[in-house]
Amino acid sequence: MMEALDDRIPASTRAQAAREAISTARLAVQSGTGRFSFPEIVTLAESHAAAHGRALLKPVINATGVLIHTNLGRAPLGKAQMDAVVAVARGYSNLEYDLTAGQRGSRYSHATALLKTLTGAESALVVNNNAGAVMLALGALCGGREVIISRGELVEIGGEFRIPDVISAAGARLVEVGTTNRTRIIDYTRAVSADTAALVKVHPANYRIQGFTAAVEMPELARLARAHDLPLIYDIGSGLLTATGAPDWVRDEPPVIAALSDGADIVTFSCDKLLGGPQAGVIAGRSDLITKISKHPLLRALRVDKLALAALEATLLVYLEGDASELPLWGMALTPPDDLEGRALRIIASLTKTLGRADLKMHSVASESVFGGGSLPGTQLSSRAISIADPERSAADIERSLRHGDPAVVARIENDMVLLDLRTVAPEQDDGLEAALSASLANGGPVSP
Ligand SMILES: *Cc1c(COP(=O)(O)O)cnc(C)c1O
Repeated sequence: MMEALDDRIPASTRAQAAREAISTARLAVQSGTGRFSFPEIVTLAESHAAAHGRALLKPVINATGVLIHTNLGRAPLGKAQMDAVVAVARGYSNLEYDLTAGQRGSRYSHATALLKTLTGAESALVVNNNAGAVMLALGALCGGREVIISRGELVEIGGEFRIPDVISAAGARLVEVGTTNRTRIIDYTRAVSADTAALVKVHPANYRIQGFTAAVEMPELARLARAHDLPLIYDIGSGLLTATGAPDWVRDEPPVIAALSDGADIVTFSCDKLLGGPQAGVIAGRSDLITKISKHPLLRALRVDKLALAALEATLLVYLEGDASELPLWGMALTPPDDLEGRALRIIASLTKTLGRADLKMHSVASESVFGGGSLPGTQLSSRAISIADPERSAADIERSLRHGDPAVVARIENDMVLLDLRTVAPEQDDGLEAALSASLANGGPVSP
C-alpha cells in the first residue's frame, strides 16, 4: 500500500517531485549504476512528494506518553481555548484598541487583569515565550550590571537556552556564587556590590541535585534582596499556578503564587508547560519593575501575537472558573490508568477483528508517562499502552510506517515492541489511532522509503 499524499501539496510541487525522480533515473542510466522501470520512477516521485507533505505542519497523534512534548507542540488546547483563537483570528479585534475610551489601547492589557487576579501579582506582561520573558526582564532590569546567581542554577533548558548565555546576551554580567550542590545565604551576601542589579533564582526545571545539597529558600533570599534594595527575579519555568488542589507529584514545582508571596519581585514562566496554554511567556510581579520592563525596546521584538493571547485568556478563564482538569493537559494528566486500559482493550479487540491476523501480538501493558518539556524530572505517571509485535516486521519498521501514516502517529519502541501510550492520546483520537494502526498493520503496512 502506498503512503497517501497530503492533498495540500500543490501541483507544482508534485511536478517538481516527478522531475526529480526522472532526473535521478537519468543519472543512474548515464553513470551506468542502474536502470529504473517506469513504475519505479513513479514510486520514487511519489516518495519525494510524500516527503514534501510530511514537511507541512500538521496534527499528529502523540502516543509517546510525554505530556509536554516540545517537539510535538507542548500543551494541546481544548475547545474553549480554540474557540477564543478562532473568534479573534476570523476578523478584527480590540487587540490594541480601548473600547471604553474609543482610542488606542495596549495588547498587553488583555491578560493582565486575569493574571493579577489569579497570581496576586501587582502587574504582569505577556511576551512570546518564557525564554523571551527572562531575556527581557534581565535586559531591562540588569543591563550593564551584575546579577548574582547560584552555581546550582546555571541551567540549560534545552535548545541552546543556557542561563549564563542568556544573562550575557541580555547585557548583564554573571556573578556565580556557591557550588553546584551547595549555596548558602552568606555566598549571596558576600557577592553583593555597588554594581549588583538583581538577585536571580532559576528553578532547575529539568534535573534534580540530590544528596549533600543546600539551597537558599525564597523567603531568606527575599530578605537579603530587601536589605540591599535589589529586585529578586525568579524564573520558575513551568507555570504551575498553585499547589492547592494539585496532585502530589507536582510538589517539587514552585507555584507562581507561592514564588510571589515568598518575596519574588519578578516571576517568569511559560504558558505552554504546566499552565496548559499556548506558547507565551509571562513576567509577573512589582508594577514599578513591570513598567520599566515594558519600556525596553526588546519588548516589541518579543511581542505576543493575538492568537496566543486569545488562547491564553481562555486558559486563564478556565482557572478562574476553578477546574483546571477542563484543560486537555490536566485532563490527560489526571486520567486514571483504568480508563486508559479500557480504551487500549477496546482498540485491540477492534483491530483483532478487522485485521484477522492471529500472528500479531497486541496487548494492553503498563507504561510510565512523563511530563517532559523540562518539567517534573523523575516524575512518572502510571499509564497504559498498547504493545505491538509483528513476526513479519521489525518494531522500527512499524514505528516508521505509523509516523508516515494518516493521521501520523508518533510512538515509542521498547524491547523490540512498538508501544502506544494512551495517556497522551485524546479519547476523541482513538478512532484515528485505530485507523492508522489498521493501515500500518494490514498487508505489512504502507511502503515507505
Ligand atoms: C522551559 C523553561 C524556560 C524556557 O521557556 P520557553 O517557554 O520554552 O521559552 C526557561 N526557564 C525555565 C526554568 C524553563 O523551565
